Amino acid sequence: MLKSHPIFEHRRIFAPGPTPVPEEVLGELARAPLHHRTKEFIGLFDRVRQRLQFVFQTTQPTYLLSSSGTGAMETCIVNLFSTGDEILVLNAGKFGERWEKIGTCYGMKVHSLKFEWGQAADPEGVRGFLRAHGNIRGVFFQASETSTGVAHPVEAIAKVVRAESDALVIVDAITALGVSDLPLDRWDLDAVVSGSQKAFMLPPGLAFLALSARAHDRRKIAGVPRFYFDLNAEDRALAGGESAWTPAVGLIMALDRVLAGMEAAGLPAIFAHHKRLAEGTRRGVSAMGLELFAKKNPSDAVTAIHVPAGVEGKKIVSHLRDTFGITIAGGQDQWKGKMFRLAHLGFFDSLDMLTVLGAVEMTLKALGHPIHLGKGVAAAQTFFLEENT
Ligand SMILES: *Cc1c(COP(=O)(O)O)cnc(C)c1O
Repeated sequence: MLKSHPIFEHRRIFAPGPTPVPEEVLGELARAPLHHRTKEFIGLFDRVRQRLQFVFQTTQPTYLLSSSGTGAMETCIVNLFSTGDEILVLNAGKFGERWEKIGTCYGMKVHSLKFEWGQAADPEGVRGFLRAHGNIRGVFFQASETSTGVAHPVEAIAKVVRAESDALVIVDAITALGVSDLPLDRWDLDAVVSGSQKAFMLPPGLAFLALSARAHDRRKIAGVPRFYFDLNAEDRALAGGESAWTPAVGLIMALDRVLAGMEAAGLPAIFAHHKRLAEGTRRGVSAMGLELFAKKNPSDAVTAIHVPAGVEGKKIVSHLRDTFGITIAGGQDQWKGKMFRLAHLGFFDSLDMLTVLGAVEMTLKALGHPIHLGKGVAAAQTFFLEENT
């Protein structure tokens, strides 16, 4: 049996969330939680919110929510929009669809501009739509559509929205923040959301949010009935440095450690790191003779790959799990069984990617797919060597 250690199973996660947690961060998580109404915690909370401004590249306040990423998505809808508002969702995958579902749930009139899975949203399509529909109050999309491994052209879309309407630009950056450049202020985005279990190398349970001045203005005239995700309640508490409800103290203590590291490394180094891992992975996969799902605009967070003809996609996922203790993601919806996804956001390095590429090669071979063992790994090795990573 190839599998793992005889005593302890060596589990490896290559799914686009939750992602692996570094030992230093696990150490923080083992500490006794502070009480949230103490000076110590208030000081920490303040520092973390400031450090998040650095990651969001904004001078606006940042919010931490005790929820998964979807909670921050919902927070945008319930605080910035009203029942009956017309909104536009750029739907190019599973997470685009989530914006539609939340909007519909709160009684918004949801328009969607659909793009084929694997394609990036087209800014000119957005322009055409906005010209034909004068009442759109918000345009919602993903910076990185995790279900397809595609990065949408955020800056270009934001420019079009600004030029053609007074709609707010709402970006789900849950697998983009801390992966690739996404400056809220410079690109004039109105809401950016993210979550702890992706590039922030933490367990799930925290969501992050920052809004533009324009979005804060919109809050004054918009909103639907809400309680837990009411930013007005949070602002009242923040005036005293506290949060409205009991925050996820343990996660926030660990987040401080992660953010200190991100500050020390600098955003350009973090973005370059993810870019290299993504490129090495894509080269490895292509050298195996497999087809990348995102032909253009691939995300640096996750690589989506077509399952080769004659192989059952579900078996790739289960073989990696059962034989190597490796968790990857399969395809969703109509791509179930026809696509698989390897993540490289957060706590990964080039050797991790060689590991998963090697395991994928062995898996395909075991499943009877004609493959040259080592070809994909060698292509990635060559790239990483050239890039000095
Ligand atoms: C993971 C993810 C989410 C949020 O999912 P949660 O399970 O609520 O954390 C939303 N959008 C994208 C693009 C994601 O990758």
